[in-house]
Amino acid sequence: MPSAKPDNEDQLALFSPPPRLFSCTPSRITTFEDCPRKYRYTYLDRPGPPKGPPWAHNSLGASVHNALKRWYDLPERERRPEVLPRLLSGAWVTDGYRDSAQVRAVYERALAWLTEYVTSLPEEPVGVERTVAAKTASLALSGRVDRIDERDGELVIVDYKTGRTGLGPDDARGSRALALYAYAAERLFRKPCRTVELHHLPSGQVAAHRHTPESIERHVRRSEETVADIQAETAFEPRPGALCSWCDFRAACPAGQSAAQREPWSAIEGYCAPAG
Ligand code: SF4
Repeated sequence: MPSAKPDNEDQLALFSPPPRLFSCTPSRITTFEDCPRKYRYTYLDRPGPPKGPPWAHNSLGASVHNALKRWYDLPERERRPEVLPRLLSGAWVTDGYRDSAQVRAVYERALAWLTEYVTSLPEEPVGVERTVAAKTASLALSGRVDRIDERDGELVIVDYKTGRTGLGPDDARGSRALALYAYAAERLFRKPCRTVELHHLPSGQVAAHRHTPESIERHVRRSEETVADIQAETAFEPRPGALCSWCDFRAACPAGQSAAQREPWSAIEGYCAPAG
């Protein structure tokens, strides 16, 4: 007669509570990898240190992302370039600019990017600003993807970029966030998702990378290792470097004081000259 009580380790494991998963976004993981002190300021210290003023380049990025989301909120017959000024002005974020002349110049530039970019948009993506989530052995991952396309029966992760510098050959291949989005999208939609793309609107450049299951798995394992480091961390030492100049916590962080201080609009000044 079988015993009702577990009598070996396997049986005991069946009755153990499941391991507690660490909830995180790709951005949380990369913040720790960039600078553990910034991670502490952002996610642990409550109240956190005061942040610096808003950045114009973040406002620009948010404005363009919002306009593209609103494009897909429209019925398909209304998605024409003529609606872009309305979409962009309705989505425009003015924080961080030097003055109204700079706002106007960058708005005109962004409108020109969008006018070009919408000619290449798919009619109905699988998702726009879509939250994806998936579990790994130790993580509960989630994040929001700018766009998920479907091509030839596979999903494609698309991330919009509006920064001044163009894309390098490794930007899509090395992106932790894009690989984790692909991992989560494949599980959420139950369709293969291997290709990840960065779309740089200022230049029209697309940086694409086709992952293998193994390369996505490597990004997942590295993320799990980073989270294990986070959980073991106590000091959260600062890691001063080039990012300090753009860090929201630079004013509060003694280690960041030697970095050059930037104006909130420094990163978009190149966009204020007339388009060439
Ligand atoms: S200023 Fe530099 S060292 Fe300090 S938290 Fe920010 S990135 Fe880290």
